[in-house]
Amino acid sequence: MMTRLALTGARLIDGYGPARPDTTVVVEGDRIVEVRTGAAPSPVGGAGADRVVDLGGRTLMPGMWTCHFHATYHELGSRPNAPYGDEYPPAYSALIAAKNLQTALTQGYTGVVGAGGAHHIEPAVHRAISDGLIPGPRLWPSSRELSTTGHSNDAVPWHWNMPAPGAVRICDGADAFRQGVREEIKRGAKVIKLFVTGGHGTTSPKDRMELTRDELAAAIDAAHERGALIRGHLVNKPAILLALELGIDIVDHCDEMDDDVIAALVETGATVVPSLHFPKHFLETYGSGLGFSAGAIRADLEHMYGVIPKAQAAGVRFVLGDDYGAVGFAHGMYGGELHLYVEHGGVTPLDVIGWATRNGAQMVGRGHDLGTVEPGKLADLIVVDGDPSADIGVLADVPPVAVLKGGEVVVGTLDLGPG
Ligand SMILES: [Zn+2]
Repeated sequence: MMTRLALTGARLIDGYGPARPDTTVVVEGDRIVEVRTGAAPSPVGGAGADRVVDLGGRTLMPGMWTCHFHATYHELGSRPNAPYGDEYPPAYSALIAAKNLQTALTQGYTGVVGAGGAHHIEPAVHRAISDGLIPGPRLWPSSRELSTTGHSNDAVPWHWNMPAPGAVRICDGADAFRQGVREEIKRGAKVIKLFVTGGHGTTSPKDRMELTRDELAAAIDAAHERGALIRGHLVNKPAILLALELGIDIVDHCDEMDDDVIAALVETGATVVPSLHFPKHFLETYGSGLGFSAGAIRADLEHMYGVIPKAQAAGVRFVLGDDYGAVGFAHGMYGGELHLYVEHGGVTPLDVIGWATRNGAQMVGRGHDLGTVEPGKLADLIVVDGDPSADIGVLADVPPVAVLKGGEVVVGTLDLGPG
């Protein structure tokens, strides 16, 4: 008989609608089996509850998702304009990745989707989490970053001839991309990362197309043939439209989003990770430094702040995620992103919570059993003091009092005082 846990007295944010006070959620084993208004009946759900926890009016909501995550990035070791995350021996980088993933879980992120990592570490750490060796969120491990000769990511000096795989794999030609994608998947990647353009945090020009149409098509087809997701660093409009036409799943950054791009995103159902937190933080920290122009970064941010509300209203799927661990931008600063889209991006707190929960699960094709609080779904839940749909700060600035993954309390405790 599976254990039944009844969480009563919750302000429920289910991932779809507004907050509902005085709600009871019943979890059996790793899944949600009942959501009802009012206190738990006795016996709960007809079969009795092994444990009843009164949340005292605290918010219960789905575990969140961060969907552009570099587990091996480590700001202390990052060199500007170099492939981040490969400066250390692979074993050390694996420990960095485990720690970063634990930080995300502690802050309420039960779903994490990789966006490029060194040494095939994300697949290995994913396995360690799945095997119960270390705690961690549900992880969609990324490939290394597939890029072309001469892109600014192609920064490993040719004379090093490093035998370690590093963070970047250089591919030139459709066959090389096809082979690259297949090998990354063989080594455990569930998400393929491509650098299709420069711009947005790289020093390669944003208006250049770094892959040919044939290379892009080959990479996307190869990923889909093997059941992997594929994402692209995409900044300029022609590249974004081409990638969408060819079937890319995830558009990272999407800086030149306009009406045509919005229409294509709605038609294809692809997901956008605007990831504006890093450029905003970079601008405030460095201005025009490390080879970047403050004016250009500011103009890109202003453009996105203006266009996001329009895209949101049109039904574009947005998710959270950014380059935490890049220079000056530590892992753990995730909450600033929730603030940013509410305060600058013109998105309501409830809509940003939708980005953080439901949209992440849908992006990886798991909308049917993750991302919202509904009977039948896996019980990835967080308990928050206060109402984040009224004040995003209670979610962004304070870690949740408890995090459940598959019905199991993995962070904090449910031994709660009055709410
Ligand atoms: Zn990135």
